[in-house]
Amino acid sequence: MRSISIDTNTLLTRHADVGIVGAGLAGLMAARELAAAGVSVCVLEARDRVGGRTWTRPTSDGTLLDVGGQWIGPTQQRMNRLVAELGIETFKTWDIGENVQYRGGERHTYSGAIPTTDPLVAGDVMEALLTLNMMAMRVPLETPWTASDAAVWDSQTFATWIDANVSAPGARTLLELAIQAVFSAEPRDLSLLHVLFYIRSAGGLMDLLGVTGGAQETRFITGAQTVANRLADALGDRVVLGARVHTIIQDDAGAQIISDTLVLSCARVIVALPPTLAGRLHYRPALPGLRDQLTQRMPMGTVYKVQCIYPKPFWRDAALTGQASSDTGAVRITFDNSPSDGSRGVLLGFVEGDEGRVFGQRSPQERRAAVLECFVRYFGAQAGQPLDYVEQSWAEEEYTRGCYAGYMPPGVWTMYGAALRAPIGRIHWAGTETATHWNGYMDGAVQSGERVAAEILAALEIHPTSRV
Ligand SMILES: Cc1cc2nc3c(=O)[nH]c(=O)nc-3n(C[C@H](O)[C@H](O)[C@H](O)COP(=O)(O)OP(=O)(O)OC[C@H]3O[C@@H](n4cnc5c(N)ncnc54)[C@H](O)[C@@H]3O)c2cc1C
Repeated sequence: MRSISIDTNTLLTRHADVGIVGAGLAGLMAARELAAAGVSVCVLEARDRVGGRTWTRPTSDGTLLDVGGQWIGPTQQRMNRLVAELGIETFKTWDIGENVQYRGGERHTYSGAIPTTDPLVAGDVMEALLTLNMMAMRVPLETPWTASDAAVWDSQTFATWIDANVSAPGARTLLELAIQAVFSAEPRDLSLLHVLFYIRSAGGLMDLLGVTGGAQETRFITGAQTVANRLADALGDRVVLGARVHTIIQDDAGAQIISDTLVLSCARVIVALPPTLAGRLHYRPALPGLRDQLTQRMPMGTVYKVQCIYPKPFWRDAALTGQASSDTGAVRITFDNSPSDGSRGVLLGFVEGDEGRVFGQRSPQERRAAVLECFVRYFGAQAGQPLDYVEQSWAEEEYTRGCYAGYMPPGVWTMYGAALRAPIGRIHWAGTETATHWNGYMDGAVQSGERVAAEILAALEIHPTSRV
């Protein structure tokens, strides 16, 4: 092993066949798969908990709140299978009643998938969704940059596409809302090719947006972090918390992963971080320019997840789902996030994209007031008297730096896409951003963990049954 300039003498040392950076779902799944094949693994996690972008926290009265990822949908086969294997209990998101839409200063209720009471707007939106779904079908998931129209689609933002293709103001507003809700970014931030890739990766736009039948259908009784906790429990002391990795060294003899507390020597490395965080590690030798420049070009979205806890889900008495969409205010999307037994009422709101960027500059009191103002507008005066208010900003999280995921602005898929998953020497890449199915979601994180484990078993020429 080549000598290093960092003084590692005071640090603990350890050896494993494979060292994994990050104990989110991707890193933990990779560890699970490799361990099952008899490969020794060690997962180094910067935080004092596992789960990364999934995080379940109790409120002062013990109500469990997911402040990160929380839903799974029926077509997310990997998460559904994993949850069944781990015996984790789930329940359906409350989706009974009418939804609220707030547009141009007026509040209305409606039923159905498209948040409008105007049939003309609904027609325009449906036409746009169908067009986008058809275009998305032409994006190869492994290699989006090889789509026949990739150059054209990757040269424009989604805002450009809306401008050119959707004329009715009501329909434009709904498409903008949909993009903010799915990416926690603005239509002008995103490459059209990336939006189309994402749609295909999920199976269709309504799969991304829907509650019943869509990505918001199912929740976890004990919170979504239960999945990561169970995976980590099974891995035992192969997961090391409080170990922030800062440097990865590789040469002909092997690799070293250097964290604040431990130096791990290994044959292969998995970096299971969002690309922008992977780009903040030091690599020796330095990574090729294409890979580093990719990580310079995949920003994270901006989101505050805000939740108000009430004595009961009072909106259900008014035959409302708790779902609202709005063109005004900090919170433009809401859901009923009450516990499965309805013992408390929880209204969940997202402050996304530009709203999230502005929101973070306000004082905590102003933020709380802005959220309550929205909830009262959508659900009435009772919404103004919560027992508790909880907010989580993911941009402030040192070991995440934004959410829901890293995305591609124009020009990135076509010029840098090939560097997203390609291993560099002993280093392999995982994380939901590298997934081909349900990219950006927990399911995508699981897929990436499985894919990278298979990649490493092949590189080590290990067949799952050849070792114990
Ligand atoms: C508010 C919010 C809502 C969401 N809603 C949903 C949803 O409803 N459904 C859904 O499927 N998905 C949702 N997502 C997305 C989902 O949570 C993520 O796609 C998924 O959890 C990503 O897993 P990952 O393992 O790829 O990355 P992460 O979870 O980001 O894991 C990376 C890990 O690496 C660690 N780390 C970072 N830097 C270092 C370092 N230098 N050294 C060591 N460790 C490091 C981090 O602490 C983290 O544990 C949501 C996310 C957020 C934040």
